[in-house]
Amino acid sequence: MKKKYDLIVVGGGFAGICAAISAAKNGVDVLLIERYNALGGAAVHALVTPFMKYHTKIDNQKVNLCGSIFTEIVDEMNRFLDRNDTMIFDEEVLKLVLNRMAQKYGVNLLFNTTVTEVFAENGTITSVKALGKSAVLELSADYFIDATGDGELSMLAGCSYQLGRPKDELCQPMTLCFRMGGVDLKRFYENYKMMNPLYKAFQEKGLIKNPREDVLMFDNLNDGVLHFNSTRIVKKNPTDPFEVTQAEIEAREQVFELHKFLKENIPGFENARVLSTAIQIGIRESRKISGDYTLTEEDLLNLARFDDAIAVANYDIDIHNPEGKGTSHHYFKDGEWYQIPYRCLLPKGQNNLLVAGRCISATHEAQASLRIMPYCAEIGQAAGAAASVAKESKTPLREIDVKSLQALLRKEDFVI
Ligand SMILES: Cc1cc2nc3c(=O)[nH]c(=O)nc-3n(C[C@H](O)[C@H](O)[C@H](O)COP(=O)(O)OP(=O)(O)OC[C@H]3O[C@@H](n4cnc5c(N)ncnc54)[C@H](O)[C@@H]3O)c2cc1C
Repeated sequence: MKKKYDLIVVGGGFAGICAAISAAKNGVDVLLIERYNALGGAAVHALVTPFMKYHTKIDNQKVNLCGSIFTEIVDEMNRFLDRNDTMIFDEEVLKLVLNRMAQKYGVNLLFNTTVTEVFAENGTITSVKALGKSAVLELSADYFIDATGDGELSMLAGCSYQLGRPKDELCQPMTLCFRMGGVDLKRFYENYKMMNPLYKAFQEKGLIKNPREDVLMFDNLNDGVLHFNSTRIVKKNPTDPFEVTQAEIEAREQVFELHKFLKENIPGFENARVLSTAIQIGIRESRKISGDYTLTEEDLLNLARFDDAIAVANYDIDIHNPEGKGTSHHYFKDGEWYQIPYRCLLPKGQNNLLVAGRCISATHEAQASLRIMPYCAEIGQAAGAAASVAKESKTPLREIDVKSLQALLRKEDFVI
């Protein structure tokens, strides 16, 4: 089967869906290809929640920094649930809302399909091969966006990349997120303060092997349910399938280690059960594709401004130690944010390919801030808009007029 589109977006996480909607809104015929059966990416298949901070204060007014499509997604979920929450969400509602928005804006969807091969000539991708549900497909387009999180499309196209930190290629830890049900939340919160000191004491005695320094958990919309983001797998390569398999096995042991610790020691967990684990271990960091510019920690600390800015962010530089215990932070104050240039989305040597989301061209430290879902969404929206500018002007993505792109984005609530 062969079909030609203006744009193919690979990956249906926040970067991919926002890229696809943004392009479709601006008249681009777009196909979005996703490996799993729903949109939402890590929020859905790695059970990542909640949304981290994506606003700041300007003149004492709360301002969203994430662009219009992410705001629309949150508004749609709130409308569906008849509530008003900007951080905690229900991933089942997210999946439904994203399907509906994709259909509303005319995005062509292809689920249960993994892109496995790229055909290119002189730095221009012509088509991709994908294994769909029971069929091999070849799909062509004028432009491509890699929103795979792991930079898989770019890797297949032969792009260079940085894995983890330059000195040892270690990435931020992987985490298998999970939920516990049957928790007596009232009793637990009355005794909350005893949990982490006891956890640390157990760790020191060697009774807890998980290297994470404390228990990281969040409230959930369901009664008696808590969400845990607390397993920690270090020193494994998230792009090596065998090492990821080992990580999944080790993390599942950590899930039940934590369950046993809580059930046997913390009031409120007496009847708790492991309700669900994510279908894929969560990957915070893997390939960061080398682009025309690489965003650095220094840029973030200096609140950098760029002539070709297409996005902004202000989430803290949140580095979970790639070697074991500890998490480091640098927080941005109200009114502070840095810009991300278009060049970070342009893989070196590629004419019609952009990267979007957590795999853009950034150092280990810079990626630790821009990687959160709202900013992946914003970067995706910018990438999709860039494809529409390229289509309109009939130019390769690397030759578009960035001023036209910026004008388009400012109309979509971008603070650039
Ligand atoms: C454990 C953990 C906790 C986190 N906590 C938070 C948090 O609390 N709040 C927050 O805002 N962010 C958090 N993050 C960060 C955030 O979840 C991710 O960085 C973000 O979701 C990345 O979005 P993305 O669109 O770039 O990639 P993803 O969400 O990873 O989406 C990529 C999509 O591409 C698909 N795909 C990949 N390869 C292919 C292929 N070859 N063919 C077809 N499809 C493909 C995948 O199935 C996936 O759906 C956390 C991350 C992790 C791992």
